[in-house]
Parts: sequence; C-alpha cells; structure tokens
Amino acid sequence: MNFDSFSESLEVLEKTPGRLELAQRLAALLRELTPGETSRALYMVQGQLLPSFDGEPMGMAGSLLLRAIGRALDSRGVTCSDSELKALLAEAGDPGILAERLLPPNEGAGESLIEVYERLLAISRLSGSGSQEEKILHLARVLSGGSPLSARFVCRFVMGRLRLGVGDATILDALTLTVLDASPDDERAWKKGRKSVREEIEGAYNLCSDLGRVGAVLREEGRDGIRRIAPSVGYPIRMALCERLGSGEEIIAKLKEAAVESKYDGFRCQVHCDGTRVRLFSRNLEETTGMFPEIARAASELFSGRSAIFEGEALGYDAENESFHPFQVTITRKRKHNVLEKSEEIPLKCLVFDLLYLDGLSLMERPFAQRRKILEEIFPVTVRGIADRELPPDGVFGASRLIVTDDPHKVDLFFDEVVEEGFEGVIAKRLDGVYAAGSRNFNWIKLKRSYKSALSDTVDLALIGYYRGKGLRTKLGIGAVLGAVLDPESGEFQSVARIGSGLTEEGWRDLRAILDDLRTEGPPPGVVSGLVPDFWVHPSIVVTVLADELTRSPTHRAGRGEGEEEGFALRFPRMVSGPRADKKAEEATTVPEIRRLYDLQRQRSTGRSSGEP
Ligand code: AMP
Repeated sequence: MNFDSFSESLEVLEKTPGRLELAQRLAALLRELTPGETSRALYMVQGQLLPSFDGEPMGMAGSLLLRAIGRALDSRGVTCSDSELKALLAEAGDPGILAERLLPPNEGAGESLIEVYERLLAISRLSGSGSQEEKILHLARVLSGGSPLSARFVCRFVMGRLRLGVGDATILDALTLTVLDASPDDERAWKKGRKSVREEIEGAYNLCSDLGRVGAVLREEGRDGIRRIAPSVGYPIRMALCERLGSGEEIIAKLKEAAVESKYDGFRCQVHCDGTRVRLFSRNLEETTGMFPEIARAASELFSGRSAIFEGEALGYDAENESFHPFQVTITRKRKHNVLEKSEEIPLKCLVFDLLYLDGLSLMERPFAQRRKILEEIFPVTVRGIADRELPPDGVFGASRLIVTDDPHKVDLFFDEVVEEGFEGVIAKRLDGVYAAGSRNFNWIKLKRSYKSALSDTVDLALIGYYRGKGLRTKLGIGAVLGAVLDPESGEFQSVARIGSGLTEEGWRDLRAILDDLRTEGPPPGVVSGLVPDFWVHPSIVVTVLADELTRSPTHRAGRGEGEEEGFALRFPRMVSGPRADKKAEEATTVPEIRRLYDLQRQRSTGRSSGEP
C-alpha cells in the first residue's frame, strides 16, 4: 500500500469515536494489506515502530522537526524563514497541521507504507555525533515525498503524538473481524464464532506480546498459524495477574489447598535466557536488562547453554541488616544512568516465583505444583514454614518463600508473620493452576495488608481529563484530575473519581506539564465520563489513588450497566503517587476489580458476603 493511502485510513480512524466502529474500520484497512505491511501498520497505528519490548516511540524534539519541515518545504520550492515557520506554528498549534498546510500537493504516487516505515526505523536508529543533521535530512525527504496529509501523520508519529485511540483490545477485535464474514446471516452463530476466534488470537498475543507478529501470521497462515504461536525466548509472555480476596478463610474456601507465598514489593522481572543471551522484561513488558545487570549476569551463569523463562520479584538488598529494602529504596534502581554505581550501593536479589519454560519446553500448561518442584531444583530454597524469618538468598536468586496448606488459620498466621516482617501480604496460588498468561483470575489471589486494616486497597486510575485550578491553585493552572478505570469487556475508560488532593504544588505543576501534552479536543475515543473536565486528555498516565469508600453514584460511569443509573465512584479520593512510570493506561484497575473491592468493603461493614466467596 502507498503511504498516502495509509494516511487517509489513519485520518478515518482518527475521526472514529466508538471503539467497535474503530475496530471495524481498522479491519477494513487490514484486509487490504500484505503480511509484511500488516505488522508495520499495526505498530504504526499504536504510535510505535516495534513492539514495546523492542523499542520506545520516537519522541523527536519539536525543534528538530521544525527544521525538517523547513528543509522539506525548501525542496518543494516553498521558501519560509525560521521565524516565519515559528510564527505559523504558533498559529497552527501542531507541527503536523503546519506541515500539512504548507506543503504543496505531491506530484507522483509517493512512497510505499513499507518504504516510509523503513526510513523512520533507520532515523530512529541514528545516534552519535552528526546524527541530528542526518535525522533532519532523512525526515525532510519523507515529508517532501508524500501528500500533505501524510506529512501531518508523519510529524505526529515522530513526535510520539499519534494518538488514534487504538489500544490492544481494538487491534485484537479488528484482527478477529478480518477472519470473519463482515455481515453475519445468523447473528448468534456469528457472535459465538467471533468469541472463539478472538480468544485464539488473544491467546497467541499473550504468548508473544507482539501484535505485529500476530497480525502478520494471521494474514499469512490463517488461524492454523495463530494456533502454532508458542512461548519463545526473547518474546515476553504477558504476565499473569492476581485476583483479590479478604481473608484466609475466603482463600481456602475458593482454592481448598493452596500454595501461599510472601508478596514482595519490588520489580517484577521476567527473565529470558537462550543459552548465551539474557533479556529481562518488566511487568508492562519493557526491556529492563540494562537496568538490572546483576540479575542478567547471574541468570547467564546459571543457565549457560540452557534456555529458560522464569519470573521473580527483584528487591533491593540491605547487606548490613541482612534484609530487604522497602519499595521506596528499591525503586531508585529504576534508572538508565549511573546503573553500575547504584547497583553497588543497592544490589538486587530476585525471589523467583514461577518457571514458564525450560530447555526448549513450555511448562505453562503444567500444574503450579509441578512447575514449583522443578523451580526448587534450580533455585535455592532459603526458608520454609511459618515460624522462620525471611532470609535473603546468598546469591542473586532464591525461590520465593512458600507454605502449602488447606488450613485458613495457617494462611492468616503466615500473613501476619509476613506483614510483621514488612512485606505487603501474601499471594495464594492454586496448586493445579496453569500459568494464565495475560489474565487475572483466581489461580493467583492476593491478600494485602490494606484489605485488613483500612477501608480498601489503593486503585490505579488512568487520567482522562483535568480541571483548571481555583483559589490558591489558580496559578498552577490545575486543581483536580478526572480518573477512570478500564472496562476490559468494552475496552472503555470509565470515569470513577475527580481527585483534587494528594500532590505537592510541585507535583501538580509537573503533572500539568505532562497532561498539557496529552490534551485532546473533546473526549478521546473510548472514554466515557459523567463529568466534563475543563480539558480532556488522552488516557496514558496512571496514578495510584486511595479513597475512604467506594459508593454507587449517578455522577460516574464505572461499571454502569445498560439501563442502570449509577456507576461506581470513589469518596474522598487522594493521589498517593504521581504518574506511574511502570504502568500503562491499559493496566489501570479494571471494573471487575472495582466490583470486587466494593464487595470486600460490604462484607467488612456487614460481616457477610454479597458476591462470590
Ligand atoms: P499487584 O501489583 O498488587 O496486583 O500484585 C501483583 C504483583 O505482585 C505481581 O505483578 C508481582 O510483581 C508481585 N509479586 C510479589 N511477590 C509475588 C509472588 N510471590 N508471586 C507472584 N507475584 C508476586
């Protein structure tokens, strides 16, 4: 496909508000693409050139882009001085619109989607001295070679501002639609078929975290190809997540016998070893190998000549006290500079809690108890049982601490012990549970300190808008933010709270600078809210929020079913973190989680359960 035509499709997507419609239009585009074009188009509609574990969005500085626009105009015979360009940019408000307005219509057919993609990839890889000039040169060539509309999208793309509202769920829906007939004769059968195709495609995505690859395989080899996608070293597996329950009794009622582990508060690490090379991935599937060199080194020694994928929690180690550091200290290891220096000051230990792949074989479908047995043959078990103190392993790796029990009282005792030692709580695991990639279910259940003492756990909200400040906050230009939870069924971000406290003046100022960059005209696609903020923002920032209570309220939309008048809402919410670097909007707390927290809260206040045990 020609890049100009691709840009016309991007414009259609940009103007489509509803998620279902968006998926349909994206499917229409995908049907016209070859497998090679499919993967590239799927990365690009998400503002990326590669899957997130292989690279970040481009994020080119506005000043460089402006110079490239100037150069492109020059080559098309339009003269415009730097100062004129700056003035025109202030008027246009967006370099993309500026380029579109000033560039004359192109004469030829323009470059293909693949050519433009490859050029952008080459630009993103330029570094070192003289690279800025080269970037400008190459980018000017891309801008001058296509239609004015394509220049708009290229500019937004290279700045990391191509915000089409196409999330993972929309892509999965669109890929599903490309396999099915567009117009169903039998609606029920069609819906059933859609569900099973969607599950297959999502299953493949959960195993490789690469929508471009899934799309290309689907296009080239159909559903058979999708079924053949298996876990492989180097492709992060989407991580299994926990459900919540409120006591040992509830956990044992649900799981009968369970493995109960300490819940460590550090960084989740998925470690991939192929015999020679090691790569680490974070919970949101970014590569963290460079940040945690001691873990990479230890893994490469342990698995020299063998392949493996395993998961653990990395914690800062306090050698003086032979204990672990709290999260606030561990987090200081999340950095790109001075890594070695910091790793000497705060070395990491990694408590391994799952083994997913070994010597070329996936273990994900095996029961947890079997996986754990193999895990304990590889990683040292430092401490067992309830009455022992958690001891950090001698080397970098140790097996997570665990008891196996069917006694609710023992779960509570273990919980108390673990909390007394300063950990967050426990995670109970179903002994015959598979590793449920990318899903949150009762195979893993967390029980946290906060459920037992305060009213509820914290929640992670995606910010969808903000309000101008009033009174003392007028000068900050921001007084409150509007937060939303994610409904995984519809893919919508649904408003749940207006939050006006929790940050320092500086924190508010910083937050506003970030949100200003994300402003959209009108509600972004896939956002539903009962309140209208002064400014809408594209949902990509997550903050952690604590509240006094969860209530039902007509003001908010979270979890509001068809025909219902009330959604869930947080009472007296306050932020307990600024923007979370480790979470994407798609990892915000979900509606089912909110429902469960609401249930836990009701049980605590009435002493009985209103939902599942
Ligand atoms: P949460 O972030 O509160 O949903 O809790 C889940 C997180 O707990 C996981 O993503 C892990 O990073 C972390 N974690 C700590 N200890 C364990 C453990 N023993 N098993 C599984 N996850 C753990």
